[in-house]
Amino acid sequence: MKKQDAALVYSLLVERYPDARDSPAIIAKGSAFEVLVLTILSAQTTDRAVLKVRGPLFTKYPTPSALAMAKTEEVETIIHSLGYFHAKARNIIAASQALLSTFGGNVPESMEELLTIPGVGRKTANIVLYHALGRNEGIAVDTHVRRLAQRIGFSNTDNVTVIEKDLMALFPQEQWGDLTDVLIAHGRTICDAKKPRCEVCPISSRCRFYATTAKKSI
Ligand code: SF4
Repeated sequence: MKKQDAALVYSLLVERYPDARDSPAIIAKGSAFEVLVLTILSAQTTDRAVLKVRGPLFTKYPTPSALAMAKTEEVETIIHSLGYFHAKARNIIAASQALLSTFGGNVPESMEELLTIPGVGRKTANIVLYHALGRNEGIAVDTHVRRLAQRIGFSNTDNVTVIEKDLMALFPQEQWGDLTDVLIAHGRTICDAKKPRCEVCPISSRCRFYATTAKKSI
């Protein structure tokens, strides 16, 4: 896709989802520590499910030092409604321990440092950097962003690392964080994984999937 078409898609999505920066509010609001922990917990589950454990988790473990000292079984009891709760409990405790041992109890502010923390990949690091620290160092590629990047034609691969690079090459850096948010909003609202509602989509005129597949069946 050409940059000018990508720019048009971006502006149409920003117009359609003016509050998109607030849409991942459940996991992306709060202190950097909270955003980090909630983003780790959000893997393979819904934001709504994460919201249910947020209160109990941070009431009991409000700081990295409190969570670093937690017993795994007690954390599991709080987050057991989430998928992969055994691994997630271990990861958020280990992440808190890393914050204490390596970063003085603070969430580090660079991608390189964040990636050394257990349970943190580029997606989580990008969400923390943008939503908690206001830094556009990369583009968080979650399931919605991956699907939409392929459908719209921003990228030709299923590899999230390559998709992130393709998006970074296509969009100016100051748009990276908001791009993730508007794509997630669009994925949740219209471009559903199983049933995309192309007939009401504001970007269908620039969408590869629509041009090659959906248009013929509408
Ligand atoms: S036209 Fe259809 S496939 Fe393309 S972005 Fe819109 S809803 Fe998704």
